[in-house]
Amino acid sequence: MKASAFSYARASSVGNALELLVVHGENAKVLSGGQSLMPAMNLRLISPEMIVDIGRLAELRGIAVTEDVVRIGALTRHADLARSPEIAAHAPLLTQAVGHVAHPAIRNRGTIGGSLAHADPASELPACMVALGATIVVGGPHGERRIAAADFFTGIYQTALTAQELLTAVELPVLPKESAHFFDEFARRHGDYAMVGLAAQAIVRGEVLADFRPVFFAVGDRPVLARAASGLLNRPVTPALLSDALAELAAELEPEGDQQASVSMRRHLAKLLLVRCVAALLGRPGLAAGASG
Ligand SMILES: Cc1cc2nc3c(=O)[nH]c(=O)nc-3n(C[C@H](O)[C@H](O)[C@H](O)COP(=O)(O)OP(=O)(O)OC[C@H]3O[C@@H](n4cnc5c(N)ncnc54)[C@H](O)[C@@H]3O)c2cc1C
Repeated sequence: MKASAFSYARASSVGNALELLVVHGENAKVLSGGQSLMPAMNLRLISPEMIVDIGRLAELRGIAVTEDVVRIGALTRHADLARSPEIAAHAPLLTQAVGHVAHPAIRNRGTIGGSLAHADPASELPACMVALGATIVVGGPHGERRIAAADFFTGIYQTALTAQELLTAVELPVLPKESAHFFDEFARRHGDYAMVGLAAQAIVRGEVLADFRPVFFAVGDRPVLARAASGLLNRPVTPALLSDALAELAAELEPEGDQQASVSMRRHLAKLLLVRCVAALLGRPGLAAGASG
């Protein structure tokens, strides 16, 4: 199938893109890498009347590190994230996660801004943003807005963006010393969307988790920061404590079943990922064997 007829405008600057979005509002769609937008249009899941192509706006591309922030332009491609020494040094969670996003051809064109604006609940990068405590930077007709990643994702393919706004960048706080991360997902094949995944950022002090942000994806309508983690903070994690956290996790997750995995399978895989995560962060592989969930 081919997309319905549409008008096309290549934005010459961020300001020009915003002007076009103000004029065309709900009838317009922003085009970045096109890896989600074009398939959706070709399948006629959506039929925007106007495409605003921001793909050549160099001002939206690139990674910059200051004393306390890593700023990533919205048009930075998945492949650029994967090979960036700055990201490897300051947000290794992202380096690891991006290798699970689709396939090389898609990673060569798909962008971080497109992935976050698309807000697929099975996507890796939105969960990473919540785990990393990122700020999403948005340009609009009334200037710039800055939105905490935890508030940005509002439902399946839904975000806090309005039709007249453009995601321009994300900012990650530079991680404190003793930071550790974990990423893993279950997918039918490498590169497929996850059945269940977990992106976690932590501070490990001695033998305890001083901070822990485990964010699950593909188990709800948006990334889920598990409340179950709070019981594991600032004390030695015993198998019994971990079992309690697993029971709490199963109660708080509300996954949907589909052709990939049933509800109970998703809950089971999420528990498995939490056990692996805590065992890996604390360097205690034996913990996985002791916990029952
Ligand atoms: C076969 C296949 C497998 C895939 N597997 C995965 C996977 O495993 N994990 C995963 O996370 N993704 C996966 N994807 C999606 C892919 O990663 C896309 O690259 C990404 O979701 C969107 O980035 P993009 O730059 O191509 O955005 P586009 O397709 O250009 O845009 C996506 C949406 O975001 C909007 N948008 C884009 N940029 C902006 C902006 N700056 N401001 C406001 N709105 C904007 C568009 O209007 C559109 O609605 C897969 C895609 C395909 C085709």
